[in-house]
Amino acid sequence: MLNILVLGGTDEARRLAAALAGWAGTHVVSSLAGRVRDPRLPVGEVHEGGFGGPAGLLTWLGDRRIDVVVDATHPFAARMTASAVEATGRAGVPLLILRRPGWRAGPGDDWRWTPSLAAAAGLLPALGGRIFLTTGRRSLPVFAGLDDLWFLARSVDPPEPPVPCRLQVLLSRGPFTVDGELALMREHRVDVLVTKDSGGRMTTAKLLAARELGLPVVIVRRPPRPAGVPAVETVEEALAWLAVTRDSGGG
Ligand code: NAP
Repeated sequence: MLNILVLGGTDEARRLAAALAGWAGTHVVSSLAGRVRDPRLPVGEVHEGGFGGPAGLLTWLGDRRIDVVVDATHPFAARMTASAVEATGRAGVPLLILRRPGWRAGPGDDWRWTPSLAAAAGLLPALGGRIFLTTGRRSLPVFAGLDDLWFLARSVDPPEPPVPCRLQVLLSRGPFTVDGELALMREHRVDVLVTKDSGGRMTTAKLLAARELGLPVVIVRRPPRPAGVPAVETVEEALAWLAVTRDSGGG
């Protein structure tokens, strides 16, 4: 039996777990951070909540006799990734990073790359007064204090204070359509979009809508991927890598 831990919370992690459910002689457990109230669940066994840092994960890998770990977390979940690198290294368990590609600007895009959310907040007053924030509810404190700006913040769960004083919250979960995003941005007279470089198909519509409306997009760069860890960009590549691992006798 090959025991696989998929660190999840993404569309790719769910698709990977679904594909692996059809593999004979393989058991998959997917983990979620456990912060979304009503998460989209992958098929199969699910572990919700953290492991207790690298030491907790190391113990967990041993207790559950995990043979291989796939880190398919969100590209900005840098602490979880660092924890996986450390724990698998100490346990001698193979680790694969499944990270979808980041977004690339195309003709007509006006993107301003920034290294952090704080740097993104610093750019805003010069760019416009009505800001569409799609950086997650836990990013809102970074924008609190920008009292001259109005914000529309879209998130899955409600944000908690501190938040900007002129804020409208839209509770919603992707995927979104370009027509829907155009209508939303027009309705709220948005003049700047702020996003993280999450990549993937679920949330590209806002970028296409911003292009069509000629709006600037402030885009936060991803944290760097750890060096020396095998990494792939698609579920299909992850399955091929896992098949080689399985056929060579597991971990
Ligand atoms: P993080 O800062 O890397 O993780 C913080 C802690 O949460 C980890 O140390 C771990 O706790 C736990 N954790 C995170 N992902 C986990 C997983 N898949 N399974 C089990 N435990 C997990 O990541 P984050 O706080 O989740 O998010 C950081 C950024 O990623 C934010 O910008 C957020 O908007 C974005 N994001 C994350 C997810 C997601 O599913 N994680 C989804 C969408 C967006 P222990 O140390 O106790 O193990």
